[in-house]
Amino acid sequence: MAEKCSHNCSSCGENCSSRDKSSMLKKLHPLSDVKKVIAVVSGKGGVGKSMTCALLASAAQESGLVTAVMDADVTGPSIPKMFGVNSRAMGSDNGILPVVTESGMQIMSMNVLLENEAEPVVWRGSLISGTVLQFWTDVIWTGVDVMFIDMPPGTGDVPLTVFQSIPLDGIVVVTTPQDLVGMIVGKAVNMAEMMNIPVLGIVENMSYVKCPDCGREIRIFGESGVDAFAIERGIPAVAKLPIDPELTRAADLGDIEAHSHYLADFLKKIIKK
Ligand code: ADP
Repeated sequence: MAEKCSHNCSSCGENCSSRDKSSMLKKLHPLSDVKKVIAVVSGKGGVGKSMTCALLASAAQESGLVTAVMDADVTGPSIPKMFGVNSRAMGSDNGILPVVTESGMQIMSMNVLLENEAEPVVWRGSLISGTVLQFWTDVIWTGVDVMFIDMPPGTGDVPLTVFQSIPLDGIVVVTTPQDLVGMIVGKAVNMAEMMNIPVLGIVENMSYVKCPDCGREIRIFGESGVDAFAIERGIPAVAKLPIDPELTRAADLGDIEAHSHYLADFLKKIIKK
């Protein structure tokens, strides 16, 4: 038990003996079927977590897996835009139905529930966590082979609730070269380890820029330290994503699914079919 135990496991990340882990896990909607759940996390915002989540989901869908994305970044949702989804989620007598992309991917996000996408969500943490859990318990996810959860950045209330309440098969950590130097990403890895959740892989985003003339890879933030970090922390898979204006354009135009090849090899490493 933690030294200063509050006897409230819902607000504590300590992996102590008094915690009954299974009793904290929330049940899926009775009509849902989700085989594998992978959360995409980062130590801080703006490092390309949503981009990585969208590219991984696109690669999974392209490989023939029935794929879903749960956008748990409730106050900064960007997943629907990246997939070009403009429709609103519909309800039925049984529950909420996710929106479906052209290729058939299932998506739930705060932005497909709001009447006006520009409306800010100015909510306290507990309400945000409750909404994310409802995405798990009240949405009807149909025949999903793999679900990716785009987590809010950092190690706060919502990531803690998701880690405790949704049965995750593992996480993918997203970082940038600078983030790695500052060891901000180490906090996210430590949090997963504290809660016994496997770290399946790490993506170093904005790792380099490819010269459009000679093809040389320019490391504007200096040499990458991600391989050494992965070895040190026992993380089995590593990917390096370039800064690529084509990715920014695709995300802005809702065309991200056409870029599934960027993380296709990495996906194969983290998912064993
Ligand atoms: P986060 O989810 O970590 O806050 P995003 O995935 O939303 O970050 O990315 C922030 C911005 O950077 C977005 O506009 C996105 O399109 C852009 N971006 C992310 N990764 C790349 C990349 N590798 N190349 C070009 N643009 C990128």
